Amino acid sequence: MSDQKFATNALHAGHDVASNGGTRAVPIYQSTAYVFNNSDHAANLFSLAEFGNIYTRINNPTNDILEQRLAALEGGIASVVCSSGTGAINTALLVLLKAGDHIVASNSLYGGTYNLFSVTLPRLGITTTFVDPSDPSNFGKAVQNNTRVFFVESLGNPKLDVLDLKAISKEAKAAEVPFIVDNTVASPALLNPIEHGANIVIHSLTKYINGNGTALGGAIIDAGTFNWANGKFPEFTEPSPGYHGLIYHDALGPAAFIAKVRIEGLRDHGACLSPFNAFQIIQGLETLEVRMKKHSENALALAQWLESREEVTWVNYPGLTSSKYKKLADEYLPEGQSSIVTFGVKGGFESSKKIADETKIFSLLANIGDTKSLIIHPASTTHQQLTEEEQESTGVTQDLIRLSVGLENLEDLKADLEAAFAKLD
Ligand SMILES: *Cc1c(COP(=O)(O)O)cnc(C)c1O
Repeated sequence: MSDQKFATNALHAGHDVASNGGTRAVPIYQSTAYVFNNSDHAANLFSLAEFGNIYTRINNPTNDILEQRLAALEGGIASVVCSSGTGAINTALLVLLKAGDHIVASNSLYGGTYNLFSVTLPRLGITTTFVDPSDPSNFGKAVQNNTRVFFVESLGNPKLDVLDLKAISKEAKAAEVPFIVDNTVASPALLNPIEHGANIVIHSLTKYINGNGTALGGAIIDAGTFNWANGKFPEFTEPSPGYHGLIYHDALGPAAFIAKVRIEGLRDHGACLSPFNAFQIIQGLETLEVRMKKHSENALALAQWLESREEVTWVNYPGLTSSKYKKLADEYLPEGQSSIVTFGVKGGFESSKKIADETKIFSLLANIGDTKSLIIHPASTTHQQLTEEEQESTGVTQDLIRLSVGLENLEDLKADLEAAFAKLD
C-alpha cells in the first residue's frame, strides 16, 4: 500500500477484503470481546508474545482498519484511534507525562486544548509555557530541565496561523523532546506534519475526516522517529510496573510509544472509539481529498468576496494575498488552506454576534469541518470563559466571526451572508 497515492490509500489502506468475508465496505465488528483458542493463547496475547484481539477497549478489527489507513495517510508507522480528539490528546500526553513534567505549547490552540493545558493538567502537576509560535526560537527559549513535549497546531484554530513546522521541529530536536502536531484543521489531505519533522500527529476525526458531523473520534499517529532511549523517558527504557516488567524500548523499538498508548493508555484511561463511529469515520475518510479541495476553493473565493464588502473591516484566510501567513501557506499548504475563514464587521462585538444569529444556510454551532457551512462568534460563545487577554493570545478578537465554509453553492453562501449584512444598522 505504501507506494500508492493518497486517494487510493484513503479508499483501500488497511482493508484486506479476503480476511474480512469479501466485504467491499469495511464491516462493523460490533463485539466487546474476542474468543481465545485456549488459556495459553490468551496468555500469549496478554504477554505480547502473539498479537491479537483481546477486548474492544484495547483493539477492534473495524478500528484497526481505520488505524492502518490513518497511519498510511499521514506517513506514520502505526496509529491508535480514540473516542474524540480531546481523548487522543489526553491519552497521548498521559502516556508520556507525569507530575513535575512541563510542556512548551503554541499559544494558538483550540479552546478546549488551551483549557486542558492551562487549568486541568496543572492540577496533576503538569505545567505548560505558552509561546508565540510565529518566532520558532521561542520554543527553545521556553525549554526547562523538565520539559518533555512540544505541542502545536499546524494550522491554528481560530487564529489560522500557519506554523513553520520545520523550524519548530529543529527546536524540538535540540531539546530532545517529541514534537506533537495537532493536524486537525489542515487534515492529512493538505498537510503531512511527519514530512516536516513531527514525531506524533493528533487528529480530531470529528472534523474533516468524518466530515458529515455525525460522529466524534480522535487519533494518535506515531512517526516512529523519536529516540525514547535518550535518558528523558525512563518509562520506556526501564521495566514497566504497569505491564509486568515490559521494557518498551527493547521489546518494541520504534513502535514503543504507540504500543504503550494502546496497551497502557487505552487500558487505563479508556478513551476508546466505538466501532460504529469508526465505520462512520471511514465513510468520510474515503472522500477526504475531494472534499478538502472543494472546501478550500469555496473558502478562498468567499474570503476574497468578503474583502470586497464595505461592512467588513478585516478578513483572515491563509490563502489570501493579504494574509501575513500567505508565504508559509505557500510552503506548507500549497494544495489548499482548508475551510476556516475569519472576519470582523463594523460595529464590533454586537454586530458580529448579530451576523452569526442572522444567517440561514450557515448554521450557528460549535464545530468545524462539516460538509455544511457553519458560523460562530467565539467571543460570546466558545471562548467566553477566557479572559480578554487569553482571548487575544488565542487569536479571538471581540469582533471575530468564524466561518467553516461547506460544500454548498458559493453564490448561495454569498447571498446568505449578504442578507445578514443587510440586517446591520
Ligand atoms: C475540535 C478540535 C479538537 C478536539 O476534538 P474533539 O473531537 O471535539 O474532542 C482538538 N483540536 C482541534 C484543532 C480541534 O479543532
